[in-house]
Amino acid sequence: MAYGVWPVLNLKSQNSDPQSPLCDLCGSADSDLVLTTPRLDGPLARCRDCGLFYVVLPERKSVEKEFRRTPDQSSSKQAASEMVRLAERASELALIDPEVEAGERPWRELTARERLDDLKRFVTSGSFLEIGCSTGEMLIAANSSFAAMGVEADERNSRAARARGLDVFAGTLSDARFPDSHFDAAAMYHVIEHVPSPREELRELHRIIKPGGWLILETPNIATIWFRLLGARWRQIIPDHIFFFTPQTITKLCEESGFELRELRSVGKAMSVRLFINRLSRYHRPAAKLLEAASDRLNLSDRTIRLKLGDVMRLYARRL
Ligand SMILES: [Zn+2]
Repeated sequence: MAYGVWPVLNLKSQNSDPQSPLCDLCGSADSDLVLTTPRLDGPLARCRDCGLFYVVLPERKSVEKEFRRTPDQSSSKQAASEMVRLAERASELALIDPEVEAGERPWRELTARERLDDLKRFVTSGSFLEIGCSTGEMLIAANSSFAAMGVEADERNSRAARARGLDVFAGTLSDARFPDSHFDAAAMYHVIEHVPSPREELRELHRIIKPGGWLILETPNIATIWFRLLGARWRQIIPDHIFFFTPQTITKLCEESGFELRELRSVGKAMSVRLFINRLSRYHRPAAKLLEAASDRLNLSDRTIRLKLGDVMRLYARRL
């Protein structure tokens, strides 16, 4: 991957800055500033040594240090409340319309069934853990084949999932303190880009997944034409995203954490025409308005479309 061709804005070396944070993936302090935008919680940097993209959060350094030194309830709670705060900010920036999101449940259920079918190409039974299970659509689907349980840091979501009779731990993965070699498969769908330290998260996953068990990660892929074309307007540049991976950096993360990569490919997602128009309005409001009127007139809002832009990747890796 020729990183030199990125449209790097305000390129500035941070080498001389003694406050420069360390790269979560390789520990390097050498990074380039890629862009600054109010849509992220700090400047977006790229590690000069391994190519990991990460948001430099002023508070991240201290939160992370706490996290490493004392992996106890209080620091994890702090990290959990931080994630909830960031999610609320995404909502404040009008990036999320709660009414549209609530109406999207049938499509979230469809996505869950499709993720389960995909997973069953690799593992068909046993115990399944989803980290960041939200209100539990994937757990409900997975329960048909697995003993499924979830971890969810947002208290409202974990309550909603439990109210549906699901086995959900409220908190972060490290709070849950699962036993060693416990799960046949563990999945994070659009979660790894939110955690304070992906490396620590994978270390914990390696501990709790059985040898030969499966890790499933789904996350945005920043090494695509969309980020090059759109920069800060790329749909994945939103407040609670802290890390952005390429196929190379996510593979390095897995391999250095004791997993063997078996498959990595780009995936699409089923959504309603309504949600598609809502998302489009972030880019071109007049066009979205026109489409909305047409879709209302033709009664298309509840139709399903499959959006596959190539900017989301899913990988399956085997725990060594
Ligand atoms: Zn690095």
